[in-house]
Amino acid sequence: IKEHPDLGWQVFDSSLRVQQDLRLQTEVDLRQALDRGELRLHYQPIVIISNEEICGFEALVRWQHPTRGLLMPGEFIHIAETSGLIIPLGWWVLTEACRQMQVWTEQYPAMAEFTVSVNMSSKQFSQQNIVEKIQKILDDTGFVARRLKIELTEGVLIDHSDGIIATLQQIRAIGIKLLVDDFGTGYSSLSYLHRFPFDCLKIDRSFIENADQDFEKLEILQSVVRLAWNLGLDVVAEGVETPRHHAQLKALRCELGQGYLFSRPLAPAAVEAMMAEKAAS
Ligand code: C2E
Ligand code: CA
Ligand code: CA
Ligand code: CA
Repeated sequence: IKEHPDLGWQVFDSSLRVQQDLRLQTEVDLRQALDRGELRLHYQPIVIISNEEICGFEALVRWQHPTRGLLMPGEFIHIAETSGLIIPLGWWVLTEACRQMQVWTEQYPAMAEFTVSVNMSSKQFSQQNIVEKIQKILDDTGFVARRLKIELTEGVLIDHSDGIIATLQQIRAIGIKLLVDDFGTGYSSLSYLHRFPFDCLKIDRSFIENADQDFEKLEILQSVVRLAWNLGLDVVAEGVETPRHHAQLKALRCELGQGYLFSRPLAPAAVEAMMAEKAAS
């Protein structure tokens, strides 16, 4: 073997092979995961910057894999996207988030006005009757439209330039809020803001990170908050990790924040423990 001229390539090749095998296996498993009920949602609090009160959650998907443990979206969302499984996965997420929120609303009076944000993939918008499907989930779960926020990245605007405005307007007409996710990371950020019917923008965490050390980042952050204000949009800052980030956002009068400083994404049992503790104090 040591004489083998291609050894380097073989090693490279076999690790690539291992990666491809894992990918294929993950796709096969994911198909079953949906039927077997292995997906979970964790809920990360969204906080009012000025007083640190929770006003809602972002629902984030996890996969309780039978042998690999709890998998984060980074390990399977891309595979879900390319295989088309993101479509049934996305409908499961929306249904489960609305169902869970409705259960909690009946259980905890303090959560009566909490909102829930759900990420939707661009792929879901290539389906027919998307508005009817969303309406049916609200009807079936009893969750009120005005407490639901749908998070979209600009990919959805690029992939579906025709007809997307009408679809988004119909979703909004039901009372659902539309949010631009990862704002500032794409190409056309500024031009689409006034062309598409958004209610809220979520500033990508790369702008919060180091805004306390990097003057340019702070300038951008400040401009985005001001822009949102001028366009009548709500703003959420993601990736609030330190008291300095918090203080900075407060000074900029950014309204809402989300990040490890306030809370990590929580399993449902941890949300319930938190609510029980709040009710007792
Ligand atoms: P995202 O929509 O930008 O979600 C925020 C991500 O940032 C979450 O990662 C969250 O745990 C993480 N995060 C929150 N606070 C902080 C912080 O202070 N610092 C840092 N460094 N990170 C923070 P997660 O849960 O791993 O999700 C990753 C991505 O996977 C999400 O990014 C979203 O694009 C996608 N995703 C998650 N759930 C769903 C889903 O149900 N459907 C779809 N289509 N995509 C999803
Ligand atoms: Ca999101
Ligand atoms: Ca982000
Ligand atoms: Ca985001």
